[in-house]
Amino acid sequence: MQLYKNQQIKIYNSLSGKKEVFKPINAGYVGMYVCGPTVYSNVHLGNVRTFMSFDVIFRYLKHLGYKVRYVRNITDAGHLENDADVGEDRIAKKARLEEIEPMEVVQRYTVDFHNILNAFNFLPPSIEPTATGHIIEQIELIKTIIDNGFAYNINGSVYFDVHKFNKTNNYGKLSKRKLEDLIHNTRELEGQTDKKNPQDFALWKKAEPQHIMRWPSPWSDGFPGWHLECTAMSTKYLGNHFDIHGGGMDLKFPHHECEIAQNEAAKGQTPVNYWMHANMLIMNGKKMAKSTGNYILPNEIFTGNNKHISKAFEASVARFFMLQAHYRSVLDFTNQGLLASEKGFYRLMDALNTLEELKASKTSSIDINSWKDSCYDAMNDDFNTPILIAHLFDAVKYINQLNDGSESLNTTDLATFKTTLNVFIFDILGLENGTKKETQTDKLHGTVNLLIKLRQEARANKDFALSDKIRDELAKVGIQLKDGKEGTSFSEN
Ligand code: AMP
Ligand code: ZN
Repeated sequence: MQLYKNQQIKIYNSLSGKKEVFKPINAGYVGMYVCGPTVYSNVHLGNVRTFMSFDVIFRYLKHLGYKVRYVRNITDAGHLENDADVGEDRIAKKARLEEIEPMEVVQRYTVDFHNILNAFNFLPPSIEPTATGHIIEQIELIKTIIDNGFAYNINGSVYFDVHKFNKTNNYGKLSKRKLEDLIHNTRELEGQTDKKNPQDFALWKKAEPQHIMRWPSPWSDGFPGWHLECTAMSTKYLGNHFDIHGGGMDLKFPHHECEIAQNEAAKGQTPVNYWMHANMLIMNGKKMAKSTGNYILPNEIFTGNNKHISKAFEASVARFFMLQAHYRSVLDFTNQGLLASEKGFYRLMDALNTLEELKASKTSSIDINSWKDSCYDAMNDDFNTPILIAHLFDAVKYINQLNDGSESLNTTDLATFKTTLNVFIFDILGLENGTKKETQTDKLHGTVNLLIKLRQEARANKDFALSDKIRDELAKVGIQLKDGKEGTSFSEN
C-alpha cells in the first residue's frame, strides 16, 4: 500500500499564508514546477539551497508513493538585467563580454549547474524544459492573452495590461500587494519603455538591432518575456491547473505574481493550488547574490578555497548544514555553522556504522514505532527537516544506549530502526555516506590484487598468454600493473 494513504502532509501555502492539508488534484499523482536557473553564470550556494529544498520535497513525495512529475526549467533567454523589461539580456551580455555565442554561454553554465547538482546528490527532475525550446508555445500564449483583451502591442512589443486585468481579477494576491500602492511606489525609467502603465510587463519584446537572441513572431523579430516562459512550460507539461509551484522567496514578486496573471488571463483559471517559497541563504547579513559579490561557489566549498571558510567540506556536510534549517527560514552561512554540521554529520555516520554491528535482544525497551512516527510527523509538517534531524540525533542516542547495553531492541524493532534511519538519511535527506567512497576504493584494491595473484599463478604455470591477457585487459580499463622487486603493484590513470 502507498504510504501517502496513511500520512497527511501540511504545506505552507504562500497564497493563503497558512499551512494547508495537501490534497493533490489527482489522487496519487503530484505535479510540481520549480523555476530553474538563468544559465548565465555559475550557480552559487544560495541557488543550491533553494533547489535543495525542492529536491527534498520531491524525494519525500516519491518516498510516500506519489507519482511525481517534477518540472524544473532552464531559463536560457528573455531574462534581462535587474529582472526588468529594459536592459540587456543576461545571457547575451555574457556572450558579448566573453566573445562567444549566447548558446555557448547557455551550454557552459547548464553543464556547470548539472555538475554541481550531481555533486550534491540531487535527483534529476522528470522534465527539464528550456525557454528557447518553447518559443512557439509562448507565442501561442501571447495570442490568446491578446484575444482575451489583456495584452496590447506597441511598436512590436506586447505588454500585459495589469490595470485592465486588475478590474476583473486580483493582481497582487500572492505577494499581498495592491495595485494602488504599486502605482505610488513605481519609479519609471524615463523614456525607456513604451508601456501604457509602468506596472504592465512585457510578454514579447521587439529586439533592438544589436540583440542577437531573436525569433520571428506576429509582432516583431524579438524575444519572450521572462515571466511568460514559466507559464508556457509549466502548463505544457502539468496542465492549466497543477498542484505545486515553487521557487525562491525573491521570485514571488513580480515573477510568480505575473505567472498567475498570465494564466488567469489566458486560461481563465488560476494555475496552482500550493505556492511554495524557499527562504534565502545569507552571508554577512546580506542575501547571497552574484550581483553584489557576496557569494560562495560550491566548488570553493569542496576545495576550501574561499576566504570565508577555514577548510574544505564534503558536499554531504554542506547539504546537512542547509537541511538543518527549515526551508522557510533564512539561513546564515558561516564557517562555524559548517564546522558544527560537519561534526554532527560524522556523528550520525559513525552511529550508523555502529548500528550495523548491533545484535537484537529478546525484548525492546525503546518504542521505535513512535520514534518512526515522529520522523514522519516532522516531514508531514511542511517538510520540517530540522525537526527530523533532531529525531535522527535521538536515534544516535539510542544507538549508543543499545551499544552499551542500557537499552534493547528485538529483531523486528531493530530491523525497523535500521530501515527507517537509512530511508530518512539517504533516500529523503539525500545525504551520502562519508565512508562510501573509501569502500569503493577498498573493493577496487581487493579485485585488482586478486587478478595480480591469478596472473602470478599463470606465470608460475608458464601460461604467459593468460598472464599477458590479464595485464593488457587491465590496461584497457585504465589500470597499469608494475612488476618490481617487491612484487607487482598497480596504478590508475
Ligand atoms: P536565478 O538563476 O537568479 O533565477 O536563481 C535561481 C534560483 O535561486 C531562484 O529560485 C532564486 O530564488 C534562488 N536564489 C537566488 N539567490 C538565493 C539565495 N541567496 N538564497 C536562496 N535562494 C536563492
Ligand atoms: Zn519561473
